[in-house]
Amino acid sequence: MHLLHLDMDSFFASVEVLDEPALAGRPLVVGGSVERGVVASASYEARRYGIRSAMPTAEARRRCPDLVVVRPRHARYGEVSRQLLELLERVTPLVEPVALDEAYLDVRGARWCGDGVASLAAQLRTEVREELGLACSVGGGTTKLVAKLASKAAKPRPSAPGVAPAGVPRQGPGSGVVVVAPEDELAFLHAHRARALPGVGPRTADKLRRYGVDSVGDLALVELGSLVRLLGRAHGTLLHDLAHGDDPRRVEPSRVAVSIGHEETFAADERSRDRLASLAREMAERVASRCRGAGVAPRRVTVKVRFGDFTTRTRSRTLPAVLATGQALGAVAADLLDELPPGPGVRLLGVHASLLVPRDEAAAGPEQLSLFAPPGDPETGADGTQRREGVEAAADAIRDRFGAAAIASLAATARRAGAG
Ligand SMILES: [Mg+2]
Repeated sequence: MHLLHLDMDSFFASVEVLDEPALAGRPLVVGGSVERGVVASASYEARRYGIRSAMPTAEARRRCPDLVVVRPRHARYGEVSRQLLELLERVTPLVEPVALDEAYLDVRGARWCGDGVASLAAQLRTEVREELGLACSVGGGTTKLVAKLASKAAKPRPSAPGVAPAGVPRQGPGSGVVVVAPEDELAFLHAHRARALPGVGPRTADKLRRYGVDSVGDLALVELGSLVRLLGRAHGTLLHDLAHGDDPRRVEPSRVAVSIGHEETFAADERSRDRLASLAREMAERVASRCRGAGVAPRRVTVKVRFGDFTTRTRSRTLPAVLATGQALGAVAADLLDELPPGPGVRLLGVHASLLVPRDEAAAGPEQLSLFAPPGDPETGADGTQRREGVEAAADAIRDRFGAAAIASLAATARRAGAG
């Protein structure tokens, strides 16, 4: 349940309404000229008339004489799409855009952002609404296939645009968020028409129907050999795997994250150096954990402090080798914090990691880690670092399985242990 698929609702049409609020509530399509063009995007008000993407504009006009037809402004959609991508990359560096209005997110590295994937998905949807002024639907699952079908299931219904009908559960159809629990994924998948699978077009759907295969569930009952005879080796194997929930596609980020950070604003200004230092260490662990989730390790640490009067100061340090553990990252952060006296009180504290290096590259040179300390040092030498890295990775796995609350922060534990 670590993959999200986010899909903007009637993206082009919604951007047009955003920029021209007088169009709100009107049946509207973005598309080419009435004579020869087709509909690129239709508002939910237009969809009530049965108007769909790829329908000739002339036909859409026949179905709805009051239809507003707007010429596409691709530069503007690209601009909004870039804003969306920036927002998503603040949640996790593992974002794969698949269209201007669609992206997959691997949120394993974003485990700190809430109480599980469903709440993260809901929060994401709220942020898109507040920052971009646009609606989207979010689906979640353990595979791209399920996440994509889930976001489709979350879409608003054209009959009641923008309003969830009474009695629809918060995570039900039209709710904007559907996260499928791992144990429900097969049933969810099997309830779909075979046509919902990638690679099943009208022709394949026809062939399958002649075999008595209508749903994905029907498809799952067909033996691999029969599917291969019917559709060929590659296609048959693919559909067989998908029907069994087997989708090995990973999220392939389009670009490398620049930084991973964590910030907190305090309810009351914080003045204690010790307290701030221990908060910085805890944040460093969260940052290190997200770095591990993203498969990277940082070489640069930045501490950011905003004071009660809203002045902001930062301190950074670049290291000769990567910081593989939260402990190491926290030590540098606490050190940097020493250069920023809390003075009249600290309103916000942040710890950021940058110069991110893929972990497998960093691991290729384990001798690099020993730059921090003599190799013999059991705590911080190469052996100690690797041991510590193992301990923290195990904690990540426990959090993934049982939630953040199941395990106290290692820094907090260490503090308690130290205290008594
Ligand atoms: Mg869309």
